[in-house]
Amino acid sequence: MLSKSCFLGGIMKTQKIKKNLDVLKQLVAELKVIGTAASLLAWDQEVYMPVKGIKVRGKQLAYLSSLSHVKLISKQVGNAIKELKECKDDLDLKERALLRTLSHDYFKSIKVPKELVSELTETTTLEQRAWENAKNKSDFKIFSPYLSKIVKLKQRTCELIGFKDSPYDVLLDDYEPDITEKILDPLFSNLRDETVKLLKKIESSKIKVTEHLNLKLAIDDQKRLGQTILSYLGYELDAGRLDEAVHPFTIGMGSGDVRITTHYYEADFTKALYSTIHECGHALYEQGFDKVLELSGLDEAVSLGIHESQSRTWENIIGRSPEFIKFLLLQLRKMNTSALKGNNPENVVQAINKVKPSLIRIYADEITYNLHIILRYEIEKDLIKGKVKVHDLPELWNSKMKKYLGIMPKKDSEGVLQDVHWSHGSFGYFPTYSLGNIYASQFFAALRKHVSNVDQKITKGDFKPILQWMRDKIHKYGAIYTPSELCKRATGSELNIKDYIEYLTNKYSRIYKV
Ligand code: ZN
Repeated sequence: MLSKSCFLGGIMKTQKIKKNLDVLKQLVAELKVIGTAASLLAWDQEVYMPVKGIKVRGKQLAYLSSLSHVKLISKQVGNAIKELKECKDDLDLKERALLRTLSHDYFKSIKVPKELVSELTETTTLEQRAWENAKNKSDFKIFSPYLSKIVKLKQRTCELIGFKDSPYDVLLDDYEPDITEKILDPLFSNLRDETVKLLKKIESSKIKVTEHLNLKLAIDDQKRLGQTILSYLGYELDAGRLDEAVHPFTIGMGSGDVRITTHYYEADFTKALYSTIHECGHALYEQGFDKVLELSGLDEAVSLGIHESQSRTWENIIGRSPEFIKFLLLQLRKMNTSALKGNNPENVVQAINKVKPSLIRIYADEITYNLHIILRYEIEKDLIKGKVKVHDLPELWNSKMKKYLGIMPKKDSEGVLQDVHWSHGSFGYFPTYSLGNIYASQFFAALRKHVSNVDQKITKGDFKPILQWMRDKIHKYGAIYTPSELCKRATGSELNIKDYIEYLTNKYSRIYKV
């Protein structure tokens, strides 16, 4: 049956649609201005702000965030969304996308009362301090009451927002719209089984990976190397900058200002190099949003998984390939440094891609990384569904580590307490890391069908055609298409692990000769 407002006659209907669209366009432009101002403050906090500035900075950021919230949940916006939903078929592609993204945020925001939002904020602030303390003392009991409270608040939030199959879907949707537990369960269990098989094969290899690489490089030389590599990869230095921060990150103030940070260690230049390449991948995505989308609300990443697919493509698929390492060695020789001098290129490739199960996720190699994620996914979804209790987590963590990676932490700071995510209440975030890996390989397999001689191009440092394909198929669309539409359009198929397993098998059989 047609809705009431769609019975309206032609001109009246067009006028009404235009009026409502204007309300939404005005809102997203304002939200973008507020959001990018907050981003600049957040960037400054991590890069330049003196320690004592934190009090006022906290207030500035909290004020901007509440300002955005108030604007989003206004009655006028709510009416415009409701009326446009009734005339969806009369909207064009971008208008439909705007309606999709805004109504997603609007309905999620209005269903959670103000009191619950402030209780969540307060609890996570206390919880974060408790987590730091618990991690320092390696004592889960300090963290456990706070974690129990945040789990309860999150469960309540899921109930208020509503769900079809699982409350955990509500949390996944915060980071990865389109993805549900029903999709992730088979995807991740296949990935887990295939990875464990591959790991066993690699562990049977006779290759002994050398530990003796010459990785020392003066910080000034590392900075020069970083800038050189960024220019080769296509990062626009007049639309961004590279600075230092304790924990590297990327932050965008519109596609004309996308900044990245890294952290230097004189004893090992590869740490800053690979974090720079990773963040560059994120930045290339944001620099590549179509300029006509500026301030339209669609000049955004469509999901964290798609964002992460871009960083992992450049860091792992390209950056850790034997071809890129050849290119890197040439750059180091051109700079006349002693880094990696005298090391056999094959040994460098093996060392940079060394596979060894480790306790800490952020130091994990490409093969074992996903096992760390799947373990966290399995635990957090059961936690939200009430199937496991907080006090059982250390034991559950350790038994899964033993089962999937064959190693077990001796203390909780190297186990269940290692990551900051749960102390922020960020349940549903971890899966986006593995989704990034899966999307990355699927996109790159499609790219190989359209860009000729990809490997030779990487060796020569000719990254333009690779970036161009990413721009045309992924970056320029911003948030116009949903992640699944984007994946289907770029690769011709739904999200699946076939290309990823093929990529890992080919790469590591070659390196480990198995
Ligand atoms: Zn990333």
